[in-house]
Amino acid sequence: MSKIENNKTCYALVTGASRGIGRAIAIRLARDGYAVLINYQHNEAAALAVKADIEANGGKAELMRFDVGNKMQVETALSTWHEHNPGEHIHVLVNNAGVRKDTLMVFMQDIEWQQVMDTSLQGFFFVTRALLQPMLTARKGRIINIASISGVNGLPGQTNYSAAKAAIIGATRSLAKEVASRKVTVNAVAPGFIKTDMTAELDEASLKQMIPAGRFGTPEEVAAVVSFLASDEASYVSGQVIGVTGGLG
Ligand code: NAP
Repeated sequence: MSKIENNKTCYALVTGASRGIGRAIAIRLARDGYAVLINYQHNEAAALAVKADIEANGGKAELMRFDVGNKMQVETALSTWHEHNPGEHIHVLVNNAGVRKDTLMVFMQDIEWQQVMDTSLQGFFFVTRALLQPMLTARKGRIINIASISGVNGLPGQTNYSAAKAAIIGATRSLAKEVASRKVTVNAVAPGFIKTDMTAELDEASLKQMIPAGRFGTPEEVAAVVSFLASDEASYVSGQVIGVTGGLG
């Protein structure tokens, strides 16, 4: 059963929710009582599996396919959703979709720079802008951006990814100041190394030696922080960047 406030269902949109961290966030927010909109780009089978998992546990979920970096797709999907759900609005937005195209700067191709920017940074802009006005009107909203320790400290081979994630952190801090008086909070979560498809080919055995906790984190450990930031209890937390790194950084 989903949470209802003022006769309205509480919806949360999680971008990139078919796999990894986004999947864990979608499942956690459904457990917290949100009706979850599961965004994905390609992997419909995985997105359907997340929906089935949520429904099997008594939650409510629907799929919402679009490429976050494609302005037309974003605006069409969200305006169609609003047309089909008159009077409803999305209370929680988790900008999670992201890709990694690592290579040293001297070898970096335009496409490797552009794809990372399109997904993380353009995606943040297109989706957030489309949902911001209803949040401001409702005087209620939570925007949570999944950044990275790479955007805080930098990592070799990731100038594209670090630039996109650092930009998200800057945008988080500015937007938080713009919208705080309307009771909309904006925060970033900066994970370290988390066990997902994105990190599957990394050399975990050697990398974990530099992590104070001695291990990679789990998607559920990131989802727990997102759950707090989405909650009513986090109403006075805004403009922050919260690391989930096992002490790294
Ligand atoms: P992942 O396992 O590779 O999953 C990526 C998800 O994003 C998938 O659901 C994918 O959908 C979706 N996606 C990719 N491009 C998209 C687009 N253009 N439009 C819509 N959805 C798109 O990645 P992850 O490790 O969970 O990472 C999630 C976020 O955490 C990313 O922003 C990443 O940068 C950040 N992060 C991850 C780590 C880590 O160690 N894993 C560390 C720091 C930060 P499809 O299944 O349809 O392809």
